[in-house]
Amino acid sequence: AIDARGISKAFGANAVLDQVDLVVTPGDTVALLGPSGCGKTTLLRTIAGLERPDAGTVSIDGQLVVGPRTHVPPERRRIGMVFQDWALFPHLSVGANVGYGLSREDRRGGRVEESLRLVGLGGFADRMPSTLSGGQQQRVALARALAPRPKAILLDEPFSNLDTALRVQVRTEVHALLTQLGITTVFVTHDQEEAFVLGDQVAVMSGGRIEQQAPPAELYDHPASAWVARFVGDAN
Ligand code: ATP
Repeated sequence: AIDARGISKAFGANAVLDQVDLVVTPGDTVALLGPSGCGKTTLLRTIAGLERPDAGTVSIDGQLVVGPRTHVPPERRRIGMVFQDWALFPHLSVGANVGYGLSREDRRGGRVEESLRLVGLGGFADRMPSTLSGGQQQRVALARALAPRPKAILLDEPFSNLDTALRVQVRTEVHALLTQLGITTVFVTHDQEEAFVLGDQVAVMSGGRIEQQAPPAELYDHPASAWVARFVGDAN
């Protein structure tokens, strides 16, 4: 489970997160949806440990990783991350990319090949990233995030670089995979259709606050505010 409470963060005078609560039950996928600049990426980076909030706590599977006197570094949070601009290392093979953050023990134990097989790229370990399609590269990035066997995974606009046909294919495969593995997932999107298709819950963000977090149908049927109603209504 991911349990973030009362997260506030300002960059100078710019208050970007204002007492945000985000709770994700084990195995669930939450889509973080909202207009550009509302704080989605900053919230994700705070959960990942790449930003330190000014206030609030974060626990991952019951372990406090952010608190008044706690800041567990990203690599010790057991969270996988796929960020949009977090490219593969171009000079390293696919296998070396996937094995990059692994212990020698895990690498020797066949974890790289196993992770590539999970994303449908068994046998690709010796290829160079530049010889792969965009969708394949994105799956390698996912394999790299999955390789350490994270309890949770954070995806920042993971499908936005792909053209429409590929996007639907890759996101369907990724979603099936994360569901099959029971991995707790938060992904950022400003694509409402994507949020509603993939999210068990959708957290609608605006101006540094989560306006409502609920299953997609509930957002339609019982929007918590006029803003949510209008935002969700725009999708139709
Ligand atoms: P988008 O959908 O456009 O990616 P977002 O909802 O993910 O937007 P954030 O990237 O979290 O929004 O940015 C929220 C606000 O915080 C913006 O005003 C941005 O300029 C500001 N911001 C983000 N990171 C920093 C930083 N490191 N230093 C200063 N300001 C920042």
